[in-house]
Amino acid sequence: AANSSRVLLAADPDREGEAISFHLGRVLSKNNPDIKRIEFNEITKAAVEEAVQHPREINMDLVNAQQARRILDRLVGYNISPILWKKIKRGLSAGRVQSVALKLICEREDEIEKFIPEEYWTVDVKLLASGKAVEASLHSIDGKKAELKTEEEVNKIITGIEKEKFTVASITKKERKRSPGAPYTTSRLQQDAANKLGFTSQKTMMVAQQLYEGIELGNDVVTGLITYMRTDSTRISPQAVDQLRSYIETTMGAKFLSPDVKVYKTSKSAQDAHEAIRPTDVVRHPEQIQKYLTKDQYRLYQMVWQKFVSCQMSDEVADHTAVDIHCKNLMFRATGRIVKFNGFTEVFNPEDKKKKETTLPDMEEGEELKFKSVHPEQHFTQPPPRFTDASMVKILEESGVGRPSTYAPTIQTLLKRFYCTRLQKALKPTDLGRLVNSIMIGHFPNLVNLDFTARMEEDLDRIANSDLSWVNMLAQFWGTFEGTLHSAIETIGEMKNVLDEPTDYVCEKCGRPMVKKIGRNGYFHACSGFPECRNAKAIPLGPCPKCETGHVVMRATKRGRPFYGCDRYPDCDFSTWDKPVSGEVCPKCGKILLEKSS
Ligand SMILES: [Zn+2]
Ligand SMILES: [Zn+2]
Ligand SMILES: [Zn+2]
Repeated sequence: AANSSRVLLAADPDREGEAISFHLGRVLSKNNPDIKRIEFNEITKAAVEEAVQHPREINMDLVNAQQARRILDRLVGYNISPILWKKIKRGLSAGRVQSVALKLICEREDEIEKFIPEEYWTVDVKLLASGKAVEASLHSIDGKKAELKTEEEVNKIITGIEKEKFTVASITKKERKRSPGAPYTTSRLQQDAANKLGFTSQKTMMVAQQLYEGIELGNDVVTGLITYMRTDSTRISPQAVDQLRSYIETTMGAKFLSPDVKVYKTSKSAQDAHEAIRPTDVVRHPEQIQKYLTKDQYRLYQMVWQKFVSCQMSDEVADHTAVDIHCKNLMFRATGRIVKFNGFTEVFNPEDKKKKETTLPDMEEGEELKFKSVHPEQHFTQPPPRFTDASMVKILEESGVGRPSTYAPTIQTLLKRFYCTRLQKALKPTDLGRLVNSIMIGHFPNLVNLDFTARMEEDLDRIANSDLSWVNMLAQFWGTFEGTLHSAIETIGEMKNVLDEPTDYVCEKCGRPMVKKIGRNGYFHACSGFPECRNAKAIPLGPCPKCETGHVVMRATKRGRPFYGCDRYPDCDFSTWDKPVSGEVCPKCGKILLEKSS
């Protein structure tokens, strides 16, 4: 930059990018007085040329909002983490958004543990209308919603039902319309990618970054395929709307085009004048560029493209029919749904799976239906589900705690600290996570309070909008935080080793019992004679099937791939890629069982 007459700073179009530009500008200004900031939402020739035409000064409000966030995060992290190191163990951390997310995960686990499943029953009947099958579910008894708790209650109702008359009491037909949703924000993109593609939030952001930075499409030119992926705006530029609407009309026909231009409301916390995540050129159909993309890039691009195209399409129109069927004092209801016009669902399906269509045969009010069979079924109420990447991102956004740049790193940090683990897609807290959470709730209640954290995010928005001084905001925060911090240091008790569990294993070096401990990457065994005896090892997963005196433990290859081998290696060379089934042995020979893939 020293030899250039003019310097344009083009970091990412958000507060972080503004702060980077500011610091770069300060360094470069020694050699070059003409430094300007440019901003573009997509890395395409047209967008970059347009940006170069409109250079501007650094926006100090945005820089200050970003600085305030970093200082706030450090005040919290750098002050609380050492307390956790001292009282529990080294390597732990606390953080503004991280600790709120951990609290949500732990509270949900408490609810699940306290949950008592309740029995309930449903009753379905199969009937015939002029020879055609009709399925109906018990809806009400004596005009009140049917709530059956026990098998006895069910039997009272269904005994002799085959001899009763089933009469159509009413038929209600309603046309229902369903409108497309807004194009993607970061939060929605992560949620749909988790639900539809099985991506973690981190993976979604990594692949989106690749699409944003650009792919070479067989012409030696790298082209950005989507707009900037960290955004909470659903706005679309007027040019992109025009291009999209004419694309829909010419490729699919006028009936698939929404009659009015659909404008999507952006949440009140949305930052700056950003745009939604959309393809940079709607004409670039996913299939047309599939051969230049990896499988993950293709699937994510396809989802972004479909969501964007659908947002200016017409509504789906469906007929919903409800048929009420009387039998004694019981009312059964059969429902049908027939889609008359696909509209936007032609391109984008909002559900994970296709919504089922159910066709009902023609019936008339007063018509008598023939009984075929009755199907009572026992159910139990379910506890609330554990958070997944999708539902965690959703609640962080809805409560105003997370921001587009923080969703994925927050989940990643909790996993890295071993505060929670993944159980398939679900996030389950570890004992360590629950211990840290109990300390945060007990000693830093504000920091794990959703409203308090949301208000801090609002304050950062106000700084960005020039409505609040960042110095005042930080001074006010520190004013209350300092006191909390001091009393926490004095009152948090020593909790080293509280999570250790005794085991039946004996240390082969000194004969003392081994204890199960939580380490950086999960559980391990260590000698209870620490620090005189420093023996520590992976948790034995069962007796070694080869030498029968050693134990199978998890190890890793030089490249980090996990395998399972004998802890007497090199005396015993047993090893396998298959994971032992925890704690189970073969009932016939007493050897460990291995999970075989397929
Ligand atoms: Zn020992
Ligand atoms: Zn062995
Ligand atoms: Zn066996």
